[in-house]
Amino acid sequence: MVKTLDSLDAAGSAVGVRVDINSPLTDAATLADDARLQAHIETLSELTGKGARTVVLAHQGRPGGEEFATLEPHAERLGELLDSPVEYCDSTFSAAARACVDDLDPGSVLVLENTRFYSEEYMEFDPTDAAETHLVAKLAPVLDAYVNDAFAAAHRSQPSLVGFPQRLPAYAGRVMETELDVLGGIDDSPEPRVYVLGGAKVTDSIDVARSVLERGLADAVLTTGIVGNAFLLADGVTLGAASAEVVNDRSPEAVKRAGELLDEFGHRLYLPRDVAVERDEERVEIDTESLPVAEPALDIGARTVAAYADLLEDAGTVVLNGPAGVFEDSLFEFGTRELYEAATRADHSIVGGGDTTASLRSLGLDGFTHVSTGGGAALQMLTGGTLPAAEALDD
Ligand code: ADP
Ligand code: MG
Repeated sequence: MVKTLDSLDAAGSAVGVRVDINSPLTDAATLADDARLQAHIETLSELTGKGARTVVLAHQGRPGGEEFATLEPHAERLGELLDSPVEYCDSTFSAAARACVDDLDPGSVLVLENTRFYSEEYMEFDPTDAAETHLVAKLAPVLDAYVNDAFAAAHRSQPSLVGFPQRLPAYAGRVMETELDVLGGIDDSPEPRVYVLGGAKVTDSIDVARSVLERGLADAVLTTGIVGNAFLLADGVTLGAASAEVVNDRSPEAVKRAGELLDEFGHRLYLPRDVAVERDEERVEIDTESLPVAEPALDIGARTVAAYADLLEDAGTVVLNGPAGVFEDSLFEFGTRELYEAATRADHSIVGGGDTTASLRSLGLDGFTHVSTGGGAALQMLTGGTLPAAEALDD
C-alpha cells in the first residue's frame, strides 16, 4: 500500500517533497509556462497548512541541454502561487543546504537546487543503491519524512525518486495519488473503452495499442497523427513518399510492427479515412482512396473525425495520447480540436502526454475527467508497466 498525505502528521517536521516542475524556459531566469508548478500547489499548500517545514526537490532540464538551469525562478514563482514564503538555496545537499533545512520555520518552504546539477541524479539505481548516493545519504538525516509528487518522473529510478523511501517514512503527494488511482484503475473504468493514439511516438503507441488490446482493456483503438500514418502504410495505403519518410524517420520498424498488430487485432483498430496536406498555403483534405500525394499528411480529415467522433461520444471511457496532427499550425489543428472536444462528451475521459496537454491549453480545450501530468510515465502505466518511483513508495 502506498501511504498518502492523509496519514502524514507533518506539523513541525522537515518533509522532503520531490516534485516535477521541469518547465519550458524563455531564458535561464524566466519560466515560459508554470502549469507544472501549479499542479503541485495542492500538495505543497496542504503541507504548509499542516505546519510542515517543506523542502522541495526537483530537476530542470538535462546536462548539456538548453533548459538545464537553476530552480531560482521556480522558487520565486512558487512563492507567488502559494502566497507564502519560499526560500531558495543554490545547492542541493551541501552543509549550507542542510543548514537552510534546519533553519526552516514551520509552514515555510525551501527550494533546493536542481537535483541534476549532481551527476548521480542522472543515473538509474536500485532503491537500496540509490539510498547510498551522496544526495540521499546527506539529506535524509535532516529530513523527517519524504513525499513523492513527481508522477511525471516516476518512470525513472534516480536517487531523489527511489532512494529516500529506503531511509524515511514515505508518502505519495496528491498528484501522485490521483495519477496512480486514475491510470492504475483503468481496468475498472466504464466500458466501452476507446483509445485514441496519435502524435509522434510511433513505437511507444504501438506498444500501448498492443498491450491494451492483448489485455482486453480496449474495445477500440483509433489511430491519428504519425501513428495513424504508420498504420495506413501497414494496411497497404500508399500515402506518398513524404509521409512514409516521416514514419521511417521515427522508426524503421514501425510499419512492420503496425502490420503485425493489424493482423491480430484489425477488427478493433481504426485507421484514418482521409488526411490533410498543405497545398498553395491552403489545407486540402484527401480521401485515402485518392492517395498517394506528394505532400506529407499533417492531420486527419473531416471524414475521419466524423467516424471517430461517433465512437468517442458513445464511449464509457476515452483515453487519449498524442495530438491528431500538427496542431501547432492553425491549418492542421482541426483534427486534434474536434477529437478532443468529442472526447469530453464521453462519460470518462483521460488525457496524457506533454505535447498533448500543451495542445489542450493552446486550443483552450477542457472538460476532461483527468489530464495526466505524465508523458512517459503515463504511457508506461497504460502499457501495464509499473513505475519504479511508485513501487519505491509501496511498503
Ligand atoms: P505527446 O508529447 O503528447 O506524447 P508526441 O510528442 O508523441 O505527443 O507528438 C507530438 C508531436 O507530433 C507534435 O509536435 C505534432 O506536431 C506532431 N504530429 C502530430 N501529427 C503529425 C503528423 N501527421 N505529421 C507530423 N507531425 C505530427
Ligand atoms: Mg512530446
